[in-house]
Amino acid sequence: MSHELRTSWRCKNPALRGFLFLQRASLKRYFGIDTSSLMGKKITHAYSNCFIFNCADTAMACVKDRGRGNFRFYQPQMNVDLLSRMKMDHAMRQALVQGQFRLHYQPQISLCNGSLLGAEALIRWTDPEMGNVSPVSFIPLAEESGFIINIGNWVMDEAVRQAVLWEQAGHPVVVSVNVSALQFQQPDFVERVAGTLRSSGLTPALLELELTESILVRDADEALARLHSLKTLGVVLAIDDFGTGYSSLAYLKKFPISKLKIDRTFVTGLPADESDRAIVGATIAMARALKLAVVAEGVETEAQREFLQGLQCASYQGFLCSPALSALEFETLVAKLATCTA
Ligand code: C2E
Ligand code: MG
Ligand code: MG
Repeated sequence: MSHELRTSWRCKNPALRGFLFLQRASLKRYFGIDTSSLMGKKITHAYSNCFIFNCADTAMACVKDRGRGNFRFYQPQMNVDLLSRMKMDHAMRQALVQGQFRLHYQPQISLCNGSLLGAEALIRWTDPEMGNVSPVSFIPLAEESGFIINIGNWVMDEAVRQAVLWEQAGHPVVVSVNVSALQFQQPDFVERVAGTLRSSGLTPALLELELTESILVRDADEALARLHSLKTLGVVLAIDDFGTGYSSLAYLKKFPISKLKIDRTFVTGLPADESDRAIVGATIAMARALKLAVVAEGVETEAQREFLQGLQCASYQGFLCSPALSALEFETLVAKLATCTA
């Protein structure tokens, strides 16, 4: 008997011991898989059935999280993860009710003359206990739970409210809103955007929707119909994080997209990295040929800006100009930019 099978016999619970033995023996016989001895060692402690099955359930949830067709052994850290995710999920729901979310605006700057071309609305959350929580941590969780629909609706309303204020003040700014896949797939998504535009009175061309490539590849016919309806409303459609998804170039021809945002991962290596130079150069050339606007994301250095300028990239966004700012700080920056470019 192998070490792996032998470890099952150390389990104190007879029913579970039998089950484990049969399971391990089958795995070994039919699939030639040796189950881990780590699992056997853990089971030497006299845990209750209930506890063990709960652990197995937690491990299974982790496998499902990572796309199924795999296996994981339970580790105590998994419960910590699950607990912190549940805590975060609860806190997120409270945050929306209690008005803890804010939008910050990151300028998009012309590489021709340094003028302001638009602003990306980025969500910010300060939780009383956790402090500032990055959207990189909570947006994926909200996407998983479906709560992104509520967050997305709030973001859209808030961004449009701010865009109306800027338009009414005589300084119109094109405001880009990130739209998650689940939000885009809602049957009433187009109607909701139309309703928000109607009730707010915003000029539709002042609203831009940032879509990821994953939105376009999933159910392409439905996406195409929806994009055409949005285009008919007069809003601008952009592809965010271009080059990072499983995309087919055919959709650039087929879908009514106006703008590509080159992902930061390709900009970071500029100008030194040869592959990044090739990818960014090819993307800009392709966008030009297809008459699409281009924004390079995550520009942090003068050298990157100059390189992009040399490729005749139309615009950029990044810490070199400014991170995302509160509406008030953004207005101060816009005034400063206006005096620089006057
Ligand atoms: P994204 O839409 O690609 O937004 C750009 C991210 O890059 C932002 O991170 C921004 O702060 C960061 N960034 C901009 N310039 C630079 C730079 O020069 N250097 C570096 N290192 N980073 C830069 P943030 O705000 O943490 O957002 C991360 C992601 O979370 C966003 O990526 C977007 O996918 C998502 N997100 C943010 N707000 C929203 C929202 O309101 N709705 C949805 N659905 N997703 C959002
Ligand atoms: Mg974005
Ligand atoms: Mg992006």
